[in-house]
Amino acid sequence: MNVPVYRFAPSPNGHLHLGHAYSAILNYEAARQSGGRFLLRIEDIDTVRCTPQLQQDMLEDLSWLGLQWELPVRKQSEHFGDYTKALQKLEALGVVYKAYLTRAQIKRFVAKQDASDTPWPRDPDGAPLYPGDNGVLTKQEQQTLHNSEAPYALRLNMTKAIKLAGDPLSWTEAQHGLMQANPAAWGDVVLARKDTPTSYHLSVVVDDALQGITYILRGKDLYHATSVHRLLQTLLELPEPLYEHHDLILDETGRKLAKSAKDTALRELRASGITPAQIRARLGL
Ligand code: GLU
Repeated sequence: MNVPVYRFAPSPNGHLHLGHAYSAILNYEAARQSGGRFLLRIEDIDTVRCTPQLQQDMLEDLSWLGLQWELPVRKQSEHFGDYTKALQKLEALGVVYKAYLTRAQIKRFVAKQDASDTPWPRDPDGAPLYPGDNGVLTKQEQQTLHNSEAPYALRLNMTKAIKLAGDPLSWTEAQHGLMQANPAAWGDVVLARKDTPTSYHLSVVVDDALQGITYILRGKDLYHATSVHRLLQTLLELPEPLYEHHDLILDETGRKLAKSAKDTALRELRASGITPAQIRARLGL
């Protein structure tokens, strides 16, 4: 019998806070109540900001909360080869290109556009869409960059990718039904960089498929990213999981919790004598 497979997939680039505890416990309990499986995945593709110490602290915090997960734990930094294979598949489809604009160049271009009648479009996270190299660099400049060792990002040609994917994309949001995906809202997303063989979007869809995740239960901050994930799943011919995006735990000012905030870090709360049961109660669980 196929049982539901849930996962909690934190990045050890800071200490876990109450928002992570909420997401982890929701996944853990959903797996338990449905007779399903609960997996933990360490999303550490940023090998500079994600440190072994932070990873160890993270596992300790999750154990302290009373969670148990299957072993071995998948660590993304140990599987770069899997993401490279997926990237090669996308390259073979002709939907990946090398993009050379620096952050400063993008910023200058966008500022100029914003000063005109039509401000430059932003993605759902508020970042300007990638303008494309053509509008900013001359053919000569592009050629010189191609021939040099200059840093680049490998980006998805969004227009081409959507066309190739064919039918309008959607996903099923548990309790709400069918949602229309709108990957175009993100523009040409980054899939990898010269010095990082993958990106969040690419590795998350590859791993969810490889680990057989059937039910993705994560925060509403990733709701719109699902559009990109459905597009990549379609191009890479990966299975479609069910999605559910839960409310975020906010601070007193109504803002999303930050990994840098001390007062909501699980370690600090634990040091102050708070018990896991009190954490659950505080989260309404
Ligand atoms: N690693 C992501 C984060 O810490 C979560 C990825 C996901 O749930 O899709 O925000």
